[in-house]
Amino acid sequence: MSAQPGAYDEPLGRAREHALAWLGSLGTRPVGPRADADTLAELFSGPLPESPTAAASVVDELAALAEPGLMAMPSGRFFGWVIGGTLPAALAADWLVSAWDQNAAMRFATPATAAAEEAAGAWVLDLLGLPDGSDVGFTTGATMANFVGLAAGRQWVLERVGWNLSRDGLSGAPRVRVFVGEERHAVMDLALRYLGLGEPIAVAADAQGRLDPRALAAAMQEGEGPAIVCLQAGNLHSGAFDPMTAAIRVAREHHAWVHVDGAFGLWAAASPKYRTLVAGVEGADSWATDAHKTLNVPYDCGIAIVANPATVRSVFGVHTSYLLQPATDGPGDPFEKVPELSRRARGIPVWAALRSLGRSGTIDLVERLAGHARSLAEGLGHIPGAEVVNEVVFTQVCVSFGSDARTRRVTELLLDQGTTWMSGSVWRGREVLRISVSNWSTDAADVADSLAAVRRACETAGHDGEETPAGLYQG
Ligand SMILES: *Cc1c(COP(=O)(O)O)cnc(C)c1O
Repeated sequence: MSAQPGAYDEPLGRAREHALAWLGSLGTRPVGPRADADTLAELFSGPLPESPTAAASVVDELAALAEPGLMAMPSGRFFGWVIGGTLPAALAADWLVSAWDQNAAMRFATPATAAAEEAAGAWVLDLLGLPDGSDVGFTTGATMANFVGLAAGRQWVLERVGWNLSRDGLSGAPRVRVFVGEERHAVMDLALRYLGLGEPIAVAADAQGRLDPRALAAAMQEGEGPAIVCLQAGNLHSGAFDPMTAAIRVAREHHAWVHVDGAFGLWAAASPKYRTLVAGVEGADSWATDAHKTLNVPYDCGIAIVANPATVRSVFGVHTSYLLQPATDGPGDPFEKVPELSRRARGIPVWAALRSLGRSGTIDLVERLAGHARSLAEGLGHIPGAEVVNEVVFTQVCVSFGSDARTRRVTELLLDQGTTWMSGSVWRGREVLRISVSNWSTDAADVADSLAAVRRACETAGHDGEETPAGLYQG
């Protein structure tokens, strides 16, 4: 049976209306949610309905229930964690992806999505200056993109010492040494855990969190055997970049696989102005980045890039009777490049984002984000008691307001205002307010309003050693 004619009209019409109302509210609503998850869980819960409900009513009910618990993450005044917004073309394309409902695993079955994702992949390689002909896979995010790069690396370094991982598994295999900077993102450890590689060897970093290549050389010298070196393009706190050329040279002396976590920072490569930050990055073997951060496509979308297609396809290729035999050359099937078999065509919003921005728009996007970060840092520098504690080289700014207690107080007062959202964090043993500029729609007015909000929070918080006026601050 096919659906009744018009069955989708009302629910999609309602969804469009609710979506536009939400997007329209972003300019004025408080950034933070008004209700917490426990409160909302009660509203959403209750026994499973015994009978059906009309689709349009379900959409209305969902929108109404969710409304107070939505965080204005797509707002231009949201600077928390590293979270981008959504470009109009990317959001609209994502709707089509859902409507088309293609299982994007195989070229012959869903040629349109495969072709669009291949085009998107080629554009990404071009923009980021990565080797032509690398395999590009679209994952849920950078966590899984890192997993893909490390899985390919594990396969390759073991193969190099004569161990067939696909056939013989990890038990009894030579130990793979994995080197990471001490300030790598925590998901690197997670990906290594998924891969059965255990805890990595942490290499010392400098004051900005950049891996020290001499420390890497010393650490690699201490042992032998198969090795993977993980570098970082874009430190979560400072935005700093590991010195790619020097670190890759060290890794090559030990025949190591080199993987780069560039979840947000790899996009510096798209800009002639910021490209020097990642100089030499193209010399690695695999790269992970996100499209749902700097590129501003909807969640979930990460990009896994591996220079050697044969290696990644030997890890993720599936050979069963009901799938066509995967080709070993040519573009390859989408499923050979990522952990999933069935998945949505999440590369399509990447195609739409890049098609709408073009090269100049992408460069402009990256440079605007970094420019706003610099303006924020500069403005913060004029607020009494505020101290920017990192070198602002890209999109990240960390600021302290004196003692840890005062920094925490300012952060809470700031979030209570609802004008802007920045996250509290701890960096190099010190509490900081962390700012990440990742949203395409952030403009100079958002920056000015956010700085004014920080100034107000600082004034309300009083000075270190002073009591906060009663009632303004709890906890
Ligand atoms: C966000 C981030 C990750 C994790 O990416 P997800 O998309 O959340 O899976 C990894 N590394 C860095 C540097 C990040 O900023």
